[in-house]
Amino acid sequence: MESKMNLGLGHNSDAAGSVIAKHSEAAYLRERKVVPGGSMRAASWFQPYPPYAARGEGCWVVDIDGRRMLDCANNFFSLIHGHAFGPVLDAVRDVMVKGTAFGMPTESEILLAEALAARNPRMEQTRFCNSGTEAVLAAIKGARGITGRERIAKFEGCYHGAYDWVEVSLDPAPSNWDDENGNPASVRCNAGTPDSVLRETVILPYDDPQRCADILRREGHSLAAVIVDPHASRAGAVAMSKETAAVVQEACRRDGIMLIADEVISFRLSYEGASRLFGLEPDLITTAKIIGGGLPIGAVSGPADRMSVFDHSAGKPKVSMGGTFSANPLSMAAGLVSLEHYSRPVVDRLNGLGERLRGELRKGFAKAGVAATVTGMGSLFRLHLGAGDVTGYRSAFADPETAKRIRRIQLAMLNENVLLTPNCSGSLSTPMTEAEALSIADKLVNVVTSELGDRQGAVG
Ligand code: PMP
Repeated sequence: MESKMNLGLGHNSDAAGSVIAKHSEAAYLRERKVVPGGSMRAASWFQPYPPYAARGEGCWVVDIDGRRMLDCANNFFSLIHGHAFGPVLDAVRDVMVKGTAFGMPTESEILLAEALAARNPRMEQTRFCNSGTEAVLAAIKGARGITGRERIAKFEGCYHGAYDWVEVSLDPAPSNWDDENGNPASVRCNAGTPDSVLRETVILPYDDPQRCADILRREGHSLAAVIVDPHASRAGAVAMSKETAAVVQEACRRDGIMLIADEVISFRLSYEGASRLFGLEPDLITTAKIIGGGLPIGAVSGPADRMSVFDHSAGKPKVSMGGTFSANPLSMAAGLVSLEHYSRPVVDRLNGLGERLRGELRKGFAKAGVAATVTGMGSLFRLHLGAGDVTGYRSAFADPETAKRIRRIQLAMLNENVLLTPNCSGSLSTPMTEAEALSIADKLVNVVTSELGDRQGAVG
């Protein structure tokens, strides 16, 4: 029998549930002593304690209290084939027994770099690292090395990892959205970020191509890079308009700015990745997550004339890029087999399933008369509350009351044995079928209807 866990916020809470979740609670109390906040990342934390994973099986994850959940978080969209995918396990086992890392190159890095180049000719050359953050920081340093400029531009609210410059205006509040000229302000995300970093980071609006063009016309000559995720999860999980994408592409060509496409999540959107779908021709592309088959990875790719900025073969490169575990054979082998199994027909099937899920959710919300919408593309989806259209960071912004509701919905879904991310987004994985997609839709419509109905939020 499936267990219910009482996470203390009033949804499906019962005394038996809290007893059943006692192992996670004990683990959390123990972890708190040695880890600040009792968890390694805020994104997987729950009040009052998170469920601790014991094992994964395909699209299911089982926690240490024996509770089995349909996993739509997929380690933040990195597990395209779900958990413990057989071909990945076999490939990793084969490699592992021969040694896990060497101070020498291995042939496995050639194979994965070739696989990326075969999918997208703009990924002609690649350098691997161990995370999306590392890939983004290397791409920005590369762009600075190529152009000799220091400043960058990024879109408001978009997440690109933990490098200081891309953390600017990651989560600004309405009170500090605009600067004195009415343009998106450069807002500090972490205490202590130097003012110089704010000055070196220009913020662009995700869904206002005219303003974006104006800002780029004014600042373009001083920019090393514009970094773009054309389907940015934190900016609403909504596709960037073709107009905005064209404005960015045009400004980069005109002013000699390096266009960095951050496809750490959005690479999954098509066989070739995301930029092609938006008519972008990036100078550098950053990827991570699914290209590692579930193991740590990051990559910077691009045409050879751009990637030569990292070329050390004739002596000190313009920009160095390397790391102890970069291109380790385990990540390379897992990534290669994972990409091989993410073939065109598989991409199409999964994207179709995502379409179906979003369609069912829209129908369900309309039928129930609740003010909720779903955004997303391909195999990605995200819930929003409210009746307005979501077009970017500001329209996706949840005020404190809405943010609490979203969190309650996430917890209520957990009590329905479906794991979503804290902002109620999710991804599908290849082991999922129509049955899982329909079950997610059905449960989410019911949970949202009950949350909004219970609290007088329903419309109609
Ligand atoms: N860029 C984007 C678009 C991301 O979504 C993320 C992580 N979610 C990163 C960069 C950073 O990747 P990582 O967590 O592997 O450092």
